[in-house]
Amino acid sequence: ILKRQKAVDIVLGPQAYHRLPDLLEKAKRAPIVDIDFPQEDKFDHLPAPSIAATHKRGPTAFVTAQEGCDKFCSFCVVPYTRGSEVSRPAAKVLAEIAALAGQGVVEFTLVGQNVNAYRGADEAGGPVSLAVLLERAARVPGVRVLRYATSHPIDMGADLIAAHRDNPKLAPFLHLPVQSGSDKILKRMNRRHNGADYCAIIDQARRARPDLAISSDFIVGFPEESDEDFARTLALVERVRFASAYAFKYSERPGTPAAERAGQIAEEVKIARLAALQSALDKQRLAFNEGCVGRVFDVLLERPGRRSGQFIGRSPYMQSVLVEESGAALGASVRVKIARAGPNSLEGIIEG
Ligand code: SF4
Repeated sequence: ILKRQKAVDIVLGPQAYHRLPDLLEKAKRAPIVDIDFPQEDKFDHLPAPSIAATHKRGPTAFVTAQEGCDKFCSFCVVPYTRGSEVSRPAAKVLAEIAALAGQGVVEFTLVGQNVNAYRGADEAGGPVSLAVLLERAARVPGVRVLRYATSHPIDMGADLIAAHRDNPKLAPFLHLPVQSGSDKILKRMNRRHNGADYCAIIDQARRARPDLAISSDFIVGFPEESDEDFARTLALVERVRFASAYAFKYSERPGTPAAERAGQIAEEVKIARLAALQSALDKQRLAFNEGCVGRVFDVLLERPGRRSGQFIGRSPYMQSVLVEESGAALGASVRVKIARAGPNSLEGIIEG
């Protein structure tokens, strides 16, 4: 990178950015490459946000529970760039949640590259699962809503599925990337699950929480993806019915096994498949949104809308909800009756 781009002063790994002030000083003398994965916990060195910064960010916060990935999907650079899976100790995650809750944050998303692989140490030193961490987070005073992202199907344990039934603060929303509906492609992606495994997890999760909204990620045009493989992806979409999803064309990441494979797919084929998949997913998202009309949700008012007197909040299913102000305040959680649904948002009326 330093050779390619003379403007670069520092190449810094994701586990070392707490050293940035020091490195900026040193980089005045010579360029620096610092891409180690040090043992020290960078979170211990990062300053807590000020009350003003927390208030500016609003009533929701992301809290890192886990970092890194051991899965080595053949298309992905994350295991090489972010290192192996590491979970923060439960007490540190809970302390961060408590501090933010004390500053007025009410909705928390526990994040990690593979957050459901969470196995952080508890006070006794033993590993606890994400379900246990969520259960303990739910007991922190001030916490109203909990979410987590992103998850891998093979780490979707029975206790996490049960948490969607038993933890009343856990939002009824599950983002679970599947990437493809073809078992052949899933194997070549090294995903370690097949289409049937994925559907079985979704069925179990829906049994635990019948109103659970499912979201996912897809890659189209992975090397050697045939028309038949792609048809299987469309069939899986029909089977699961997603509330929302992200779809991407496969693009080679240098240094990953998939980038070296024969059978790369022509760009025009990728474009056509992406359009077909997105059209199916758009229809499902609109149908899901339309199914919300007439329902009443708890909506957290997150930010002002574009029109004066308008707020934008989020439904339990992660949809944007536009409401007229009618005396409510930013950060308030209000009961909203959904009056209209569009492809990307809902509109509703605050109930008295
Ligand atoms: Fe890990 Fe996700 Fe990348 Fe797969 S796609 S290697 S699970 S970060």
